[in-house]
Amino acid sequence: MIRQNKRFTDKTGWRANADRRATWPWRWPNTPAPCASVSLGRRRFLGLVASGAACWSGCRRTNQPQQQADGTGDRRQAPIAATVTVGMIADLVRTIGGPHVHVHQIMGAGTDPHLYKASRDDAAAILRADIVFYNGLLLEGKMSELLEQIGRKKRTVAVAERLPAEVLLSAPDAQGHMDPHVWMDVSLWNRVAEVIAEELADFDPVHADDYRAAAQPLRRELERLHQYGQAMMQCVPAAQRVLITSHDAFRYFGRAYQVEVEAVQGISTESEAGLNRINALVDLIVQRKIQAVFVESSVPRQSIEAILKGAASRGHAVVIGGTLYSDAMGPDGTYEGTYVGMMDHNISTIARHLGCDRVPADGFRGWRGEEAA
Ligand SMILES: [Zn+2]
Repeated sequence: MIRQNKRFTDKTGWRANADRRATWPWRWPNTPAPCASVSLGRRRFLGLVASGAACWSGCRRTNQPQQQADGTGDRRQAPIAATVTVGMIADLVRTIGGPHVHVHQIMGAGTDPHLYKASRDDAAAILRADIVFYNGLLLEGKMSELLEQIGRKKRTVAVAERLPAEVLLSAPDAQGHMDPHVWMDVSLWNRVAEVIAEELADFDPVHADDYRAAAQPLRRELERLHQYGQAMMQCVPAAQRVLITSHDAFRYFGRAYQVEVEAVQGISTESEAGLNRINALVDLIVQRKIQAVFVESSVPRQSIEAILKGAASRGHAVVIGGTLYSDAMGPDGTYEGTYVGMMDHNISTIARHLGCDRVPADGFRGWRGEEAA
């Protein structure tokens, strides 16, 4: 269940985060030490954010693009500092921002954004940023309050919330909320690429043409990837087009690529898988003779294993068809550590294990090669 405006309840303050990126502390030249050097409780930190006091002037350089004072025009001397929550957004900001944007990514591979608690270093990175990009729609569950408060003080962009309301799916287990997993429909993430390009162009007009030019090939590639997803899922026999995963991150995927989706847990991993739900899925698997279910890189696999056991006890063998990237991309430096690679992996893995026999060995890249030949 997604909780709206969830108040922080633990009393330990900001949790140290083992997943911190090795590049931290990154800092502007000639700037004071980051806020992370100051021990701040969460409550106090939020208070400081609200009042705009303390760290503000010392920790962030500017909220606007830096200008030259020599009268030669609006030339930026250093890259924009962008702090971004999840990899799927960071990848787009890096591609579109190019040399003009330095990206600090908070959540790395395998990190569950629904459960992630910001560390003091994360808070400092957000405070020091010129611009903050995040998904919104409560994806960043435990950080939502902080991000909302920061938005009153500096440029923040909740990319999923910029999509038209009519393309969003409501969250069935959280009344009044929208499903945040919009990147699972590549055509929607293509629109997010445009949102990011226009935000950067507006924030840094000197380089507006560069941002828009960088977005074009990316958007063409995403268009092709979306077509690949449609082609591969259409190749799966209709009766077998049922995708069973750990948590309900694939509803946009299901709508875009016409796959029935079922999940053990709800939209957020905060909810627990109930025995009734597991039994209902075992019934479905046995009745529909489903061959494969899928685990997710950012969600523990116990619930899926309970389903395998349940089906086996009913005399039906179902296998784990592979690990999907739902709420986090693959490791840094790998193909799956990019948005295109992540979605290619998901599309190819699902299609292959649900019964399409035409999935190229190297997925989307092979498909494009076949098309070009
Ligand atoms: Zn999720």
